[in-house]
Amino acid sequence: MEPTAEQAAIRDVVREFAAEEIRPSAQEADREGEFPEDVWDGLGDLDLAGLTTPEEYGGYDADRVTYALVNEELAHGSLAVATALSVHCLATSCIAEFGSDEQRERWLPEMATGRPVGAFALSETHAGSNPAGMSTEACRDSAEKTSADPREATDASRDGDEYILNGDKQWITNGTRAGVAIVFAKTDRDDPNSVTQFLVPMDADGVEVGKKEDKLGLRASDTVSLTFDDARIPAENRLTEEGRGLAAALSILTGGRIGIAAQAVGVAQAALDAAVEYAGDREQFDRPIADFQAIRHKVADMHTRTGAARLLTRDAARREEAGEDVRIEASMAKYFASETAVDVANEAIQIHGGYGYTTDFPVERFYRDAKITTIYEGTTQIQKDVIGRGLLE
Ligand SMILES: Cc1cc2nc3c(=O)[nH]c(=O)nc-3n(C[C@H](O)[C@H](O)[C@H](O)COP(=O)(O)OP(=O)(O)OC[C@H]3O[C@@H](n4cnc5c(N)ncnc54)[C@H](O)[C@@H]3O)c2cc1C
Repeated sequence: MEPTAEQAAIRDVVREFAAEEIRPSAQEADREGEFPEDVWDGLGDLDLAGLTTPEEYGGYDADRVTYALVNEELAHGSLAVATALSVHCLATSCIAEFGSDEQRERWLPEMATGRPVGAFALSETHAGSNPAGMSTEACRDSAEKTSADPREATDASRDGDEYILNGDKQWITNGTRAGVAIVFAKTDRDDPNSVTQFLVPMDADGVEVGKKEDKLGLRASDTVSLTFDDARIPAENRLTEEGRGLAAALSILTGGRIGIAAQAVGVAQAALDAAVEYAGDREQFDRPIADFQAIRHKVADMHTRTGAARLLTRDAARREEAGEDVRIEASMAKYFASETAVDVANEAIQIHGGYGYTTDFPVERFYRDAKITTIYEGTTQIQKDVIGRGLLE
């Protein structure tokens, strides 16, 4: 399952970029809680902001294996950066896959340069693992109508040229940086099948960005709530037919999960690399700790599990590229790779001893960052549910 020459060439470019431009400042970005915008601009210069955007709209149109390779290499440098790009790609993929020609023309060429940044707003305070339970609503209304309560829209106004959005989204990555968000909302509050996706410019009236969450890890990535208070969105910004949004979200997230699995592999590899280097340098009992069998066995387990996670991830990506239904494979990859990343980072701290517990070494960040890969884009429990259901039903 080796990459093709072209895939390997892109991987090598991103590997070098991560080593030279991302990793050196990753610890500081984490400490400051600031996203490295200069790195983002560098990604734009490398055409990576258009990684999944079709070529005709100025993108790179990467195949799914390349997408996984890029995510792994970026996450080896910084998970915050890889996450920002993968969420941007969720947004551009929604537009590329479900948008009209006009919507693609309007948004994709610019987004392929990296600005505006995209966000993907599905989760809510009370609707995480179960997005169908969302309560954000979109009511169709005419521009002239000024009712304070959009839910009072008359039948005559249901064909209006605007939607009025009300509700809140939670945990939105890129939320402070984004110029546009893909927002999922119900067009009928009582019907879980009425979820619809909208392209929402972040500067639209009635869109408010909440404060940044103070998180365990992924601290350089901005995660915020969004509030829609009678936000008027032109009807032409609807991305799918009414009621097609949830299926669209789930299909985009299946591919997204392979990207998260690849990111987890990147974090695990970074932790393993740090542990190997440290084990060679650190001496106790007059010899490098790498001489102790206990340390060698730890490194052997870390390497084996990271390799297995990479193979599962690549296999899922290859099958997705071949057009197979990869819901089970994507969940297997995400479940195994994310739990592996947590375990490998944990062992990397152990190999560093007390120093691993300080911010002088990056392994504590790898550990904190790895944990999120078991949660976002579907928790480990949800991945197991997808796998089990897929096999048993
Ligand atoms: C840093 C960060 C960034 C994020 N970025 C985004 C983003 O950009 N866009 C976005 O839309 N969302 C984003 N999310 C949201 C993320 O996808 C959700 O947090 C995740 O889906 C889990 O939802 P929840 O937090 O509401 O947990 P819950 O759904 O409340 O789950 C709580 C616990 O219950 C378990 N559980 C729930 N249902 C079941 C079940 N059926 N069977 C077994 N166990 C179950 C879960 O596994 C978990 O252990 C982000 C989250 C974080 C923390």
